[in-house]
Amino acid sequence: ACEKRDSSSIKSLSENANFTPSENVNNEDAVKIGFAMGTLLEERWLKDRDLFKDAVEKLGAEVEIMSADGDDALQIWQAEMLISQGIDLLVITPHNAESTAAIVEKAHSEGIKVLSYDRLIKNAEVDMYVSYDNEKVGELQANAITSLVPKGKYVYIGGAETDNNAHLLKKGVFNILQPLINKNDITVVFDQWTKDWLPSNAKANMEMALDANNNQIDAVIAANDATAGAVIEVLEERGLAGKIAVTGQDADLAAARRIIAGVQTMTVYKPINELTDTAAEIAVKLAKGEDVSNNRKVSNGEVKVPSVLLSPIAVDKTNMEETIIADGFHTKEDVYQ
Ligand code: BGC
Repeated sequence: ACEKRDSSSIKSLSENANFTPSENVNNEDAVKIGFAMGTLLEERWLKDRDLFKDAVEKLGAEVEIMSADGDDALQIWQAEMLISQGIDLLVITPHNAESTAAIVEKAHSEGIKVLSYDRLIKNAEVDMYVSYDNEKVGELQANAITSLVPKGKYVYIGGAETDNNAHLLKKGVFNILQPLINKNDITVVFDQWTKDWLPSNAKANMEMALDANNNQIDAVIAANDATAGAVIEVLEERGLAGKIAVTGQDADLAAARRIIAGVQTMTVYKPINELTDTAAEIAVKLAKGEDVSNNRKVSNGEVKVPSVLLSPIAVDKTNMEETIIADGFHTKEDVYQ
């Protein structure tokens, strides 16, 4: 697949991922970080890209960023490109948790450590993992929706099966749902992954879920705000928006607005600047061969990866101002337009 990637595709990818040389570009001694992103599809990833670049440069290091736009082979190729450009450390958000393991081996063979960013690479000797507590994200969603809808028919619109976060999220959701399922209070009438996290796939799943149940459902747990948006589109088409509880995560602007409008129940806010600051600090230290601290060990099937997991925050109408808006994640004007 690599032969097809000529320099013109590199250029367009670079533009797309804001592949600008950093100010320290002439500093031969500066630490060089490569950041191989899996996608820029959701609004949050643009924040990740820009804030990570700022954070790395504040530490006097340089970063080169590429996005694979959801293409597994392209991501591997981009990571190889970064390695061949002489980076000191590789940061990856894997599009595919399994296939990126090959990159870890390749990086290690060049003496380069690998930090798994937001999503964990499976079955590889990953050096460090920095993310939010994704199981907790699922628990926050399920706690919020079950306290609002303690009984009834539930639909689960999951994330991409190839993303470890989607599995952690689901685990968290079912930690809360299972006791209620056992009591027969809740029935999960539909439960599917959303291929590649694409809203179009979530939409098709939601249509199927409603068709199979004569529109008689009570609550939808959607894996993120983009899939929640797709769910709510279907509900709107059927005159059901606002009548069925829907959760999400990411605190996308569109989701914050839907929460205010009463068609989405809640979201899970993950302050991206905490993630980028933490990851940048760890990345630069690792690149310099310094020790880094961790607060967890997360098994990825091969090793227990030293990890830093940050805390997600449940947000609904009642605490929008003191969280998302107070932090400047979105402005009040934007949310309440
Ligand atoms: C992230 C979510 C994001 C999703 C789709 C997950 O791994 O944790 O924040 O919405 O990927 O990109």
